Amino acid sequence: MRETILKKIVIASNDSCSYFDTFKEVSIEKLVRPNIQHLQAYSCARDEYKGKEAIFLDANENPYDNGYNRYPDPLQQELKAVLSQIKNVPTDQMILGNGSDELIDLIIRSFCEPAQDNMIVFSPGYAMYEVSAAINNIAVKKINLTADFLPDWQTMWQKVDEHTKIIFLCTPNNPTGKLIPLEQIEQVCRKFQGLVLVDEAYIDFTDEPSAIHLLERNKNVLVLQTLSKAWGMAGLRLGMCFSNPKVINILNAVKPPYNISSLTQSTVIELLQDYDGFKQKCLRLKSERQRLLTELSTLDLFETVYDSDANFILAITDKCREIYTYLIDQQIVVRLRDIPPVISGGIRITVGTEEENNDLLKALKNYTA
Ligand SMILES: *Cc1c(COP(=O)(O)O)cnc(C)c1O
Repeated sequence: MRETILKKIVIASNDSCSYFDTFKEVSIEKLVRPNIQHLQAYSCARDEYKGKEAIFLDANENPYDNGYNRYPDPLQQELKAVLSQIKNVPTDQMILGNGSDELIDLIIRSFCEPAQDNMIVFSPGYAMYEVSAAINNIAVKKINLTADFLPDWQTMWQKVDEHTKIIFLCTPNNPTGKLIPLEQIEQVCRKFQGLVLVDEAYIDFTDEPSAIHLLERNKNVLVLQTLSKAWGMAGLRLGMCFSNPKVINILNAVKPPYNISSLTQSTVIELLQDYDGFKQKCLRLKSERQRLLTELSTLDLFETVYDSDANFILAITDKCREIYTYLIDQQIVVRLRDIPPVISGGIRITVGTEEENNDLLKALKNYTA
């Protein structure tokens, strides 16, 4: 699988020689904010002493053991070793966050200079990028997706300037469920002199390869994943970012030292053991997604029901508000996504259990305008 993909990318790159003409090695040192580049990272007690068995009188902890009296491993080595096996990425190329939302803020805060730098996002997309940008006083250049829900690259390149630090690509995208071909992502990585952040929160619901495959040949790519969706651990808050060791070191210096609690670390390690169960649930959700897609399309309610590579389906109707309220009355909560001009009258429906989906379909069949 991996080899065919790599071949495909090489061919795609050869087709567009201009990308090679402009290709230069991106310097991470030049991209990081100057104050962060010179940051003396906080050295916590657990950083200094590496042994396991000792009398720990260094961190002002309570010595009486209740299971949680000690500070957690700030670099989550044991958990990273497990993730490294699953993701096939070395541990020095990953950083973990309290959800990927924490990592989005961390990345913006480390690389974008407030009131000076800007970043690119596509609309409709995941709203958190803009929220984090606003909090950090970073300008956002927002570009509409094309009618077939793909990034409008031409407009994007027109908007990129010397202060553009990060291009955010969400694939499969929320709320469209649309995947961006990996070749297109690599072309952006080659041409752009800043960072390319690929948010793959829904990657486990697709059969397509992850942008993790781009890490080896592109220093400026950051791949964001999460345990909140396919792995079913939204409540635990565990996000992952994969990149080259230089980027990871910078982010490690900026992150709060104990950002992942020991309860989260140990529980995640335990839940990650059930890889077969995870795969099975992914398959089940994918087949339910297909069933929902078919059934929703046969109803008269929706103008369009979009195929999806994620665990949700976007359906378009000029009665979106009425249907939304009707479903609430039936105690079924979906998400309104009315984001013109690209999506007008959208309802985003998460794929539930077989039973939940049946209830949803039954309610929609009984809907009368
Ligand atoms: C759900 C989602 C996330 C996950 O955020 P967590 O903080 O890890 O729960 C990230 N990106 C997108 C696009 C999402 O839809």
